[in-house]
Parts: sequence; C-alpha cells; structure tokens
Amino acid sequence: MTAQIALYPGSFDPIHYGHIDIVQRAARLFDQLIVGVYGRPNKRLLFSVDERIALARATLADLPNVEVRAYEGLTVAFADAIGAQVLVRGLRVISDFELEYQMALTNRQLNDHIDTICLMTNHQYAFLSASVVKEVFMAGGDVSQMLHPLALKALERKRGQADSVPVISIRD
Ligand code: ADP
Repeated sequence: MTAQIALYPGSFDPIHYGHIDIVQRAARLFDQLIVGVYGRPNKRLLFSVDERIALARATLADLPNVEVRAYEGLTVAFADAIGAQVLVRGLRVISDFELEYQMALTNRQLNDHIDTICLMTNHQYAFLSASVVKEVFMAGGDVSQMLHPLALKALERKRGQADSVPVISIRD
C-alpha cells in the first residue's frame, strides 16, 4: 500500500502551540506529514522564510514522520509534487470556516485529486494566532503559554533589533 502523505500549509510566522497541536494530531492520522511553509503569503511577515522553517524544524524535531519544507506558488501544485493527496488545515472559530471553505473549494477545483481536511482546534488554543502572539509580545505581554521557548527566543531577538521593524499585521 502506498504511504498516505498529507500537507499542512501555512505561513507559520512564527509557529505556535495551536499549529503544533494540529501537526501532532495530523501526524497520527497520516504516514507522513509535510509542513509547508509558504514563502510569500499575502500578509506582512515578521520572520523570513528561512527563519520560519528553522523554527518549525526545531520545534517539531521530535516527530519522526513530520518534515518541514518551503514552497511557493499554488499549494495544490506543491501537494502534487510531493505526492500528498490531503491538505490539512486548522479551524479555530467560525470566522476561520468561511476562508477555509473558500480555499478548500478553490483548491479542489484546481485539482480534484486533492482533498482538504480541517481539524478543530484544541479549545485552549481557540483564540491563538500568530498575529495575537506578535501583538501581545511586542506590547510587552507574556506569551510563554502560546509558543515554544525557541520561538520565544526568536521573538526576543527580533525585539532586540526592533525599533526599525514595523511588522505587525492585525490579521492572519
Ligand atoms: P495562513 O495559512 O492563513 O497563513 P497560519 O500559518 O497562521 O495561516 O496557519 C496555518 C493553518 O493553521 C491554518 O489552517 C490556520 O487556521 C491553522 N491555525 C492557526 N492557528 C491555529 C490554532 N490556534 N488552532 C488551530 N489551528 C490553527
């Protein structure tokens, strides 16, 4: 039987515990899970693609069937290229649903061999997003419950360089 490969695509700017929870659960459902770090999303980023990949790799290192890769262009084209038949996405609140629904239908129209499955967030991460992490952190709040210590360190380094970095977007 061929291995079931799934792709979990996103910006991961930076990866946080809500993402990690989805990765851990999806990694139990599929033989292999590729975390696809989208190089140029349509939003302002704090971390470069190399930084986002390094953080995702470091924080997911204990999951043997998970691999982190960068991609650009169409998500379904990348899925096809790596042999993934399933896209994994996470759902937090109702407002996520509309966007995920639209993206799932669009992706299916682009390639009907690839399906999307959405995993419901763990309730403790329902209001957690990369934007919230960045906003709270940059305003001096404690985000240690929201992301891995390595990602927290990376945020601290950014703040060290920061006066010049006008990066926070309101939505993600
Ligand atoms: P995007 O793909 O919109 O850039 P992100 O990189 O922030 O989004 O997230 C990638 C995926 O992870 C999306 O499906 C998003 O809904 C999901 N996700 C983000 N935060 C959480 C969370 N706290 N709980 C569950 N899923 C989440």
